[in-house]
Amino acid sequence: MGNGCSHLNQVAFPAPKTKGCEECLKMGDLWVHLRLCEICGHVGCCDSSKNRHATKHFHKTKHPIMRSLEPGEDWGWCYVDEIMFEPFPAGAKSNSLA
Ligand SMILES: [Zn+2]
Ligand SMILES: [Zn+2]
Ligand SMILES: [Zn+2]
Repeated sequence: MGNGCSHLNQVAFPAPKTKGCEECLKMGDLWVHLRLCEICGHVGCCDSSKNRHATKHFHKTKHPIMRSLEPGEDWGWCYVDEIMFEPFPAGAKSNSLA
């Protein structure tokens, strides 16, 4: 890719496992935006949400790449390299919630 990120080969383009942040749904809590782990399909809430489950998921699992699940957004982020991908690299069809 030449963009400095060596983790894109781990991206599996998984389908989202849940329709909202997995942990917030369990807690009955609310989120601001949703982020999809591109390694395992975990759905977590963004850093603007009070629980920040997407970032917590990275710290727990070391899954480096996430992608925005917000409608109309097509960008991703590598937590390790702190690189943004926009648009998100193609290679499979988008697996948005729609
Ligand atoms: Zn990376
Ligand atoms: Zn959450
Ligand atoms: Zn994951």
